[in-house]
Amino acid sequence: MSANDIPPRVLAELRDLHHLSRQANGMTPINDPRRLAGDEFCKRALEVRDDYGVSLQDISAAIGLSRAAVYLKIKRRGLLGALLPSQTNYKNRTLDIEERNAKLRSKNKDVCKSGHALTEDNLIHYPSGRRCRKCEDLRIQRRTLKRRQERGRTQAS
Ligand SMILES: [Zn+2]
Repeated sequence: MSANDIPPRVLAELRDLHHLSRQANGMTPINDPRRLAGDEFCKRALEVRDDYGVSLQDISAAIGLSRAAVYLKIKRRGLLGALLPSQTNYKNRTLDIEERNAKLRSKNKDVCKSGHALTEDNLIHYPSGRRCRKCEDLRIQRRTLKRRQERGRTQAS
């Protein structure tokens, strides 16, 4: 059997899955369709290998990818052989990605950009994270002033 025996629609499916999975990056949530496409791609590639009796190398070539890229993708998911020590396990690295992003956002700093102490009474909690109350007040003051000036100018003209 060679890659020529694989129906074009099967190769197209693999190509589409791979294309979609390429849009995932480190910040992509674990249940995002783009990330799931990578899992599906690996599962399908192994099924195609077994169903048509062709090597992963032939499949890779047939869809225009390097053998190394396909092997790494599959191995990172623990579906084939062992990883090199430098190749961290894909699943372990991304399981708590939402948690990690939230942590990166809050950073647990004790002063804001302008140096106000970030104590609980000086914090406003938004769904997107926390903000310095003093800076928010200053921002609103500046905005009010600016609008007042703009209004003054409109009336003068
Ligand atoms: Zn501040």
